[in-house]
Amino acid sequence: MDKISVNKNSILFILLAFLTGLFFLQPSCSKQNISDLPYVVMLSLDGFRWDYADKVSTPNLDYIAKNGVKASSMQPSFPSKTFPNHYTIVTGLYPDHHGIVNNSFYDPKMEKYFRISDRTSVENGDFWGGEPIWVTAEKQGVKSASYFWVGSEAPIKGIYPSIWKKYDHHFPFESRIDSVISWLQLSEQKRPHLITWYIHQPDSWGHSLGPESEEIKSKIIYLDSLVGIFINKLEKIDIADKINIIVTSDHGMGTISKNRVIYPDDYIKQEWLDKYAGNNPFFMFQPKEGYLDSVLFALKKAEHLQVWRKSQVPKRLHYGTNPRIMEIVAVADSGWSIEYRAVVEQDKNFNGTHGYDSENRDMHAIFYAYGPAFKKRYIHPTFENIHIYPLIAHILKLDPVDTDGNMNYVKEMLKENR
Ligand code: AMP
Ligand code: ZN
Ligand code: ZN
Repeated sequence: MDKISVNKNSILFILLAFLTGLFFLQPSCSKQNISDLPYVVMLSLDGFRWDYADKVSTPNLDYIAKNGVKASSMQPSFPSKTFPNHYTIVTGLYPDHHGIVNNSFYDPKMEKYFRISDRTSVENGDFWGGEPIWVTAEKQGVKSASYFWVGSEAPIKGIYPSIWKKYDHHFPFESRIDSVISWLQLSEQKRPHLITWYIHQPDSWGHSLGPESEEIKSKIIYLDSLVGIFINKLEKIDIADKINIIVTSDHGMGTISKNRVIYPDDYIKQEWLDKYAGNNPFFMFQPKEGYLDSVLFALKKAEHLQVWRKSQVPKRLHYGTNPRIMEIVAVADSGWSIEYRAVVEQDKNFNGTHGYDSENRDMHAIFYAYGPAFKKRYIHPTFENIHIYPLIAHILKLDPVDTDGNMNYVKEMLKENR
């Protein structure tokens, strides 16, 4: 009698253990019904400085702030360039840790250069470290889509977003809006719960017109109107009340002048260098063997330029351990430029740039958000862009991977944050 009941119990125990195992092996979305899951749609306006919206009337960004959250500013990661920061936003890792250490760099192990203008490097998954939020989502059974977000054109950990596009700089902004809207109208099985999309302005306008110019103002008004078109279309969709919208940017823009330039050619001989990478105001130099001190001491003579060995970059910049970072790192002071003379001479639009110290306020970006997850009329203090990954993971109920970011720094913007 006893024996039989023991056997019954053990069969029951094995069955239970098996079912529990199955439960934990499932992607996390199946823990709840996918139709209960909210949506996150994140737009980046490249180079939209934290205070651009204060310069002109921006009724549509104001609408988001009134109905949701606006951050005083968002601090980029160092260097405040486009590729490192877009990829930090989606991975929650500093550039030193995700490996896209600049818009251009050399990987000594792969023996390859990475350049944003080179399709083979942008599409090569081996360059991209960490785990972008769309990979976390796809791995857990949540569909994602991307219109040109940095990194979305490469198989990262072997995974692409369910929908992605090859970068086409000239593809009209309004057509991008229509595609994003159409993705949100797909059948429930095909519809992505996470969409990241990208507009490459006002970055180039900031470079050519200057961030303090009169001309930049009409450009900001235009971009705000695009946000308005997007929101209007989005609010007409059936599932509008489930969609969380984030409008953010990768960095800001600082005013420069040809009267304040440090020319590396004036300080170092090209034959001292094995390699270099960078552009105004951020450079990395790899001296040839035996020339480290020559390059270092020569550059240190320049005023308005910070020059460090990679091991000595200030801790607060979280930069210097990655093998892709060259031995010497140089960044100009705010308002100053470092660039080769031939490049400066040819540049007719030398009025704005970015790449400076991430604590430089002009480098700060925007963060606006509204939707069911967010509080209303809430101003969030400045935060670092490493915290967006855990924020999105939380909203989409995904199990996040370990990152440099932490939900606790941004949870106050959420309605339910415990
Ligand atoms: P920068 O101002 O030099 O940091 O870079 C801004 C530029 O990056 C934009 O003008 C875009 O042309 C370019 N860009 C952004 N995303 C991509 C992409 N996925 N592939 C190639 N270029 C891109
Ligand atoms: Zn940018
Ligand atoms: Zn730029």
